[in-house]
Amino acid sequence: AKEDAGTSFQLYNHNMNLQVNEKIFMENNLRRAIENQELTVYYQPIIDIKTGKIKKAEALVRWEHPEDGIISPAKFIPLAEETGLIIPLGSFVLKEACQQLQDWINMEYHPIEISVNLSAQQFHKSNLKETVDNILDETGLNPELLGLEITESIAIQNVESTISVLNEFKNMKVKILLDDFGTGYSSLSYLVKFAVDIIKIDRSFITNFPHHSKRSAIVSAIIAMANKLTMKTVAEGVESWDKIKCLNEYKCDEAQGYLFSKPIPAKEFENLLKNNIEF
Ligand code: C2E
Ligand code: CA
Ligand code: CA
Ligand code: CA
Repeated sequence: AKEDAGTSFQLYNHNMNLQVNEKIFMENNLRRAIENQELTVYYQPIIDIKTGKIKKAEALVRWEHPEDGIISPAKFIPLAEETGLIIPLGSFVLKEACQQLQDWINMEYHPIEISVNLSAQQFHKSNLKETVDNILDETGLNPELLGLEITESIAIQNVESTISVLNEFKNMKVKILLDDFGTGYSSLSYLVKFAVDIIKIDRSFITNFPHHSKRSAIVSAIIAMANKLTMKTVAEGVESWDKIKCLNEYKCDEAQGYLFSKPIPAKEFENLLKNNIEF
C-alpha cells in the first residue's frame, strides 16, 4: 500500500509538470498569435424583435491558428486572463470592432451599433477609459454606437471602482451591457448602483423556455423589471421562433442566437448589412 501511494504521488507530480509546461507552451503560442495577428474578430447579429432588423453586432474573438484552424475563445480567454495577455488582446478586439463599424458606417450600410466583451483584468487593472477614449478618437466612432459587455463577476470584484468606471463611461455616452444576467452572484441592488443600460438574459434561461413554466416566469420577470428600470433587454441563445413570439409578448427588445446567425467573419456580416436583411 505504501508503494502504491508513492507511485501515485509521482504520477501526480508528473501530471502537474505536464500541465505547467503545457501552460507555458500555450502562453508563448498566444503571445506569438497576438504579435503575428492570428487573432480575428467574428460578429454575431443582435436583432430588434419588433422590426426583425439587425440592431447590433457582438464582437467575438477567434484565434486563426495556422495549423489547428479556428480556436474558440473558451480555450484561450481564461489563459489570457491569467497571464495578463487579455489586456493587449482586449485592446485589439476593441480597436478592430470600432474600426470595422466605422468602415460600415462610411459605406452607408444599414446602421447598427457594436458590442464588445470586457474581462476583469481590463476593467480593473488597465486604464480602460483612456484606451476606449483613444480608440474612439483614432477611429472617429460615435461613442453612442459602442457598447461594453461586463459580467456580474467583473462588477463585484471591486464594487467601488466598478461604480466609478461605469459612471465615466456613462458621461462619455458609451453604453454598458450586463452580460450573462442571472448566472452570477446576482444582487438586484447592483442594478441600482451600476449605470447599466442593457441586460443580456443568459442563454441558460432561454434554453427550454417557453415550455418550462419556471423559466418563463423568470424571463418575463427580468424583462418587466428591466423595463421599469428603463433598461433594455437582450435575450441570448435564441434558437427557435416560438421563443421570439413569447419574448415579444413579454416586451423583450432584442434577441441574439443561432436562429438568426452564428458569429461570422466581417465580410459575411457585411453582406447581411449590404442586403439590409430582415429576419
Ligand atoms: P458570451 O459573451 O456570452 O458570448 C456569447 C457566446 O454564445 C458566443 O460564444 C456565441 O457564439 C454563443 N452563442 C450565441 N448564440 C448562441 C445560440 O443560439 N446557441 C448557443 N449554443 N450558443 C450561442 P463564443 O464566441 O464561443 O464566446 C464564448 C465566450 O468567450 C463569450 O461568451 C465571452 O465570454 C468570451 N469572449 C469572446 N470574445 C471575447 C473577447 O473579445 N473578450 C473577452 N474578454 N471575452 C470574449
Ligand atoms: Ca457577451
Ligand atoms: Ca453572454
Ligand atoms: Ca458567457
